Order: sequence, then C-alpha cells, then structure tokens
Amino acid sequence: METTYTLKIFRGTPGNQYWEEFELQRHPQANVISSLMEIQKNPINKKGEKTTPVAWEQGCLEEVCGSCSMLVNGRPRQACTAIIENYLKASKSHIITLAPFTKFPLIRDLCVDRTSMFEALKKVRAWISVDGTEDTGQFGPPISQEVQEAMYVLSTCMTCGCCSEACPQVSEKSDFMGPSAMSQIRFFNANPTGALEKSERLNAALSKEGIAGCGNAQNCARVCPKNIPLTESLSLIGREATKQAIKNFLGLPDAKK
Ligand code: SF4
Ligand code: SF4
Repeated sequence: METTYTLKIFRGTPGNQYWEEFELQRHPQANVISSLMEIQKNPINKKGEKTTPVAWEQGCLEEVCGSCSMLVNGRPRQACTAIIENYLKASKSHIITLAPFTKFPLIRDLCVDRTSMFEALKKVRAWISVDGTEDTGQFGPPISQEVQEAMYVLSTCMTCGCCSEACPQVSEKSDFMGPSAMSQIRFFNANPTGALEKSERLNAALSKEGIAGCGNAQNCARVCPKNIPLTESLSLIGREATKQAIKNFLGLPDAKK
C-alpha cells in the first residue's frame, strides 16, 4: 500500500484560482482538517516549493457548526468528518480534491462568505418572537411528541450551505434563497408560539426569493449531512404558501396575535 497520498486543492483569490498539490503521509485516523493542519505546519507543495498555507474555516470539528463545508472530490460536505482513508479506498485513487463552494462569494482558498444564508434566515424570520408579556405557563404551550420529533430533525440545520451548493436553482442569476431557509419556515411555523408569525414567514416564501425558485430537482436532500427531509419541507411550504396567497387575495385576516 502506498504510504502517501495527494491533496489537490483549488485555491487562490477571486479571479485567480489555481490547483496546487500537496503530498502527505497516510494516517488511519486523518481527516481533511487534520491534513490541512499538516500542510499549515509545513507549507511545501508536491513540487517541493515553499508556498502559502491553505486558508480554510473550521469551528466545532464535530459536524455541528457547518463552517468547514467545502467540495471534497466534488461533493459538498463538512471537511471535519471527511476521513482520508475512506476516500482513498472508495475512489481507488491516491488523489483527493478539495475546492471551495461555488454558490457563495469566494474569500480565499477554501473560505467562502455564507452571509447570504444568514440573510435568508432573517428574511424568513427564523426565530420565535417573545415579547415577555404573554403568559406561556410553566413550560410554554404544549407540543405533542410527534410534532417534537418532526421538529427535532429540522432544528439540526447548521446553515452549512451544502444544500444550496447542490441546488441547480441557486445561482447568481436567481433570487432563490435556497432550501434550508424554506425548511426553517416549516420549523418555526411548527412551534405554537412561532405559528403566531406564520403568515409573515409564508409571505417571505411567496416573495421572488421564495419557494417558486425551487425546481424540485431534490439534489438538496441528497447532500444534506443532517438528513433533513428537505423535499418534504419544500412541498409542504409550497402548499402552505399557496393557501397564504389565496388568503391574501381574499383579504382574509392572519392568525390571531
Ligand atoms: S428540490 Fe428545490 S431546493 Fe432542492 S435542489 Fe431541487 S430546486 Fe433546489
Ligand atoms: S438543510 Fe442540511 S445541507 Fe442545508 S444548510 Fe441545513 S444542514 Fe446544511
């Protein structure tokens, strides 16, 4: 078995991206982040030239924060859980490619600016407004076990951007906010207190950045590392948004606040 492998990294700054290769020793437990750290300690490329350390983003290192998202062998995922040995064995190649996401503005090397995702969360009011004046009882309004379970998986979204990266409808030419924001509308509307702002969220889904942008290719659900049922969320929000549009047309009042 070869004792080394090559990390081939698409790096650089906007308008000046290029591939650079690094040869690294194989370690059974190495993942993409630990391999990038090895390069950082000794930034010498495969040609033996001294180069700049590769820039990347990381946070929790346990696939919860979503900050280390990148393309590993062309597929969006978190670098922290991308085990080098698994890739080498599955691809039967000694080369692994790393590249930054393409649907977000590039900062440098593997770092992109995912601000658009957080802006989308603001647009869909991805929070529960509590002004402190209502009496919610000791534990707030009850939520059935069934609804809690459905909500739990939706709550695991880490705004990592894999779904938007895979979605053919998210592009510079489209205003679509992307599937995760639509799924968060479902999550916050499922909460009894959050439901008080259901119509505001559905009106955001009816905007030009909303659900009409989804072409139902379902790539998003295939790449979500948290297995969030995005296809289900998108079709549910599509139906709910249609009902909201009819309500708007007929001038019916919103949910009582
Ligand atoms: S189902 Fe909609 S959101 Fe998901 S990848 Fe397709 S177009 Fe994008
Ligand atoms: S829905 Fe899944 S893929 Fe999309 S941002 Fe959330 S965790 Fe990431």
